[in-house]
Amino acid sequence: MTKINENYLKLPGSYLFSEVNRRAAAYAQANPDKKLIKLGIGDVTLPLPAAVTAAMHAAVDEMATAQGFHGYGPEQGYDFLREAIAQHDYRARGVDIDPSEIFVSDGAKSDCGNIGDIFGLDNVVAVCDPVYPVYVDTNAMAGRAGEYSEASGMWSKLHYMPCTAENGFSPAIPDKKVDLIYLCFPNNPTGAVATRAQLEAWVEYANRNGSVILYDSAYEAFITQEDIPHSIFEIEGAKTCAIEFRSFSKTAGFTGTRCAYTVVPKALERGGASLNFLWNRRQCTKFNGVPYVVQRGAEAVYSPEGAAQVKENLAYYQNNAKVIFQGLQSAGLTVSGGINSPYIWCQTPDGMGSWEFYDLLLSRANVVTTPGAGFGPSGEGYIRLTAFGGAEATAEAVARIKAVL
Ligand code: PLP
Repeated sequence: MTKINENYLKLPGSYLFSEVNRRAAAYAQANPDKKLIKLGIGDVTLPLPAAVTAAMHAAVDEMATAQGFHGYGPEQGYDFLREAIAQHDYRARGVDIDPSEIFVSDGAKSDCGNIGDIFGLDNVVAVCDPVYPVYVDTNAMAGRAGEYSEASGMWSKLHYMPCTAENGFSPAIPDKKVDLIYLCFPNNPTGAVATRAQLEAWVEYANRNGSVILYDSAYEAFITQEDIPHSIFEIEGAKTCAIEFRSFSKTAGFTGTRCAYTVVPKALERGGASLNFLWNRRQCTKFNGVPYVVQRGAEAVYSPEGAAQVKENLAYYQNNAKVIFQGLQSAGLTVSGGINSPYIWCQTPDGMGSWEFYDLLLSRANVVTTPGAGFGPSGEGYIRLTAFGGAEATAEAVARIKAVL
């Protein structure tokens, strides 16, 4: 009989955001007169920048002509986009990344999961706690995580790095050897960022131990503080120990349009093999590229008009973050994040459980949040709010939460 991948059977319950949605939908159905405000799931709400849609319209028109038609594109992405990324996201910040080290994809989520294909199953994987659930679940599916314990909410083979108020939500360098290290800054869910000194310590550790850092900087565009690195490759030595994931999703509103990229330096080798070569081999075999029209839209993000429009949208969300942060703080809650991130990490009052506070805010304030416990055991006692809502709705949500408290 056909055997299934039994690792899938070990996965606990439903994906976190499905459960958040399920509870919110059940409440909305039972209370049709109540108007819910959703600050739970990290999806953008502003429309695509006009420069992006103009470029996509032009690309659609090109596709309607014999000369301008594009069939299968390069699996790694078109040169025009890889070159624009290398120029604007790296060289402009003093980082020399070659376009051949950039792989355009349909999402950082898929890349964060798919990257596991090029690594052996016996690697020890380190993840932050709390964590973006994709890193954990994809390793569990591959069989790298061991067994799941309902009691602890942890997998037996993963190395968890608690990110708590005590350590400023910054994971400690492991005191043992780990092979694959997932880092995400600005962090989802805590909104914390890593300083240059902290990233230098990670790069030093990874080079010394032959580990690989899988650096997710999907939220780098939200960094407002000058001295915070946007890329792991701003750190000397990172090219021999790190892979970076970036996305147009949150930066430019591409959550439904789908475009991201992964940087695998040519200098990165393990076991005598080039990881750039392996990732290229993987992508060419399993992926057929991002649509031409979408890549033209992504390219427009870097045009002067596109960049200005993106900046405006980011400012809108950053202002929401400020409204949430200051509002909750003035209500007496302990909050962090929000300054270099669209996420606000809020401690529950009086030691209340995450889901309990989520339910309270849902039923009393009619505001949907995300319970911190869903991101890992160290997320217990917190909720996450996102700045991706409308400005008016965000202000209204904060006023309602304050009234309830
Ligand atoms: N990485 C992190 C940390 C995220 O929070 C998200 C989305 O919420 C992603 C990656 C997914 O990005 P994409 O839309 O490019 O798949």
